[in-house]
Amino acid sequence: MEIGGNKILLEDQDKRVFLDFGMSFSIANQYFDEFMQPRKCNGILDLLEFGLLPDLKGLYRCDYQSHCNLSPDPEPAFDGVLLSHAHMDHCSYIHYLREDISLYCTQGAKDIMQALDETGSTGTCDLISLKESFQTYINSKGGESKLTGEKAKKPRPYNIVDSSFTVGGLDVEALPVSHSLEGATAYILHTSAGPVVYTGDFRFHGYKGDETRRFVERAAAVEPIAMICEGTRIDKTEVDSEERVKEVAKERVDKTKGLVVVNFPIRDTDRMQSFYQVAQQTDRALVINLKQAYLLELFRTSGIATPRVDDDHIRVYIPRKTWGVYEDERFSEKIQHEDYDYWERDFLDHPNAVSAKNIKEDPGEYIFRCDFFELKELIDVKPAAGSCYIRSVREPFDIEMELDLKKAENWLTHFGLYPYTQIHASGHLNYDEIREAVQTIKPAAVIPVHTQHPEVFQNFHHNVIIPQIGQEIEL
Ligand SMILES: [Zn+2]
Ligand SMILES: [Zn+2]
Repeated sequence: MEIGGNKILLEDQDKRVFLDFGMSFSIANQYFDEFMQPRKCNGILDLLEFGLLPDLKGLYRCDYQSHCNLSPDPEPAFDGVLLSHAHMDHCSYIHYLREDISLYCTQGAKDIMQALDETGSTGTCDLISLKESFQTYINSKGGESKLTGEKAKKPRPYNIVDSSFTVGGLDVEALPVSHSLEGATAYILHTSAGPVVYTGDFRFHGYKGDETRRFVERAAAVEPIAMICEGTRIDKTEVDSEERVKEVAKERVDKTKGLVVVNFPIRDTDRMQSFYQVAQQTDRALVINLKQAYLLELFRTSGIATPRVDDDHIRVYIPRKTWGVYEDERFSEKIQHEDYDYWERDFLDHPNAVSAKNIKEDPGEYIFRCDFFELKELIDVKPAAGSCYIRSVREPFDIEMELDLKKAENWLTHFGLYPYTQIHASGHLNYDEIREAVQTIKPAAVIPVHTQHPEVFQNFHHNVIIPQIGQEIEL
């Protein structure tokens, strides 16, 4: 068993519903890497080969199926996929799903997936609309052309969940929970055998901690026959808190006269909120990147309460791209703008846009978010003496991450930002908190998922069913 890659099929009489449809990083990393990717021309077959996708009928997109001579079924064989949140290990294999399979998630999760589709680099895409591949049409000259762009786009059928709804006749409750990003939700499925609870990924601390408690209360009230419970940190007892991250960060920023450089995960909207609040309290502005700005704009349109791009304490960093001529007066605005993707161009003239030059001139004004790949910007920003670095991401847990950290540390040393402050809080419950959730909810059975230590659940529950990939559990 492993952390993530959730693809849980729940069958109740003739109803078939998937809980999440994510990528298993641990299996994927055994065979593939950044430069060794499954071949698109082989549709789903490269993934089926290694068990990265389950071999089921009526589930996968028709363009990939027919391209590989697998005849697609005329109808989908599933009533829908319920998504708990928009982390890759829960949502990224939506890419392979049929275009007519209904998807259920919160508005926040959908906005994050839309940002991934529209601003992401290759790989994770087709989450919101599917771009039909391997199709041709007869063009105006009577020849054959490949179908691309808008013509090939088919929107996927999304249903925004909020409290109660039905999926193929099955009554479901969605209960928001705190995780680390906007739009995380747990589910209670009212099956004919009794209620089944699915936690998704969750924690008690953070800005929506109260919602997690309300979910636990509600789940206890329905007296579930089973609780499918994540156990990422069941082997950990350290108590994490988002509040503590904020306190430590504020202390560090208070002591810093120069630039504060910070790294936190790009879509960790709770962490962004924490550093935004630190910026407010220390009279600085948090400088986010273009992808984050795009996501905040989607949230604003959806009415989700997060910092706004035009806030006094937010700035949007405009990096130099291909020609690198942003704000270079030797070139026309047209040429300057052509360096950027269409979705990026709206921000170039935004009143809150900042460049490396702006940050270099007034380092004490900013908290500059900069991840591993953005460290290059420090060459232009040239952090002044008395600047600092706060690393607010998890500790490395494999060799590649350790190598990346080593490299990042070389950069930090070079720019006088070493040693740095490390402060992070996990998006998951620890041992005591999982025990508390399970003992409060009192399910007849616990099914641990998303963990390397499922057996630990037996310490506090008498009926733990440890699932195996591809094996059925009868309730
Ligand atoms: Zn996860
Ligand atoms: Zn997650």
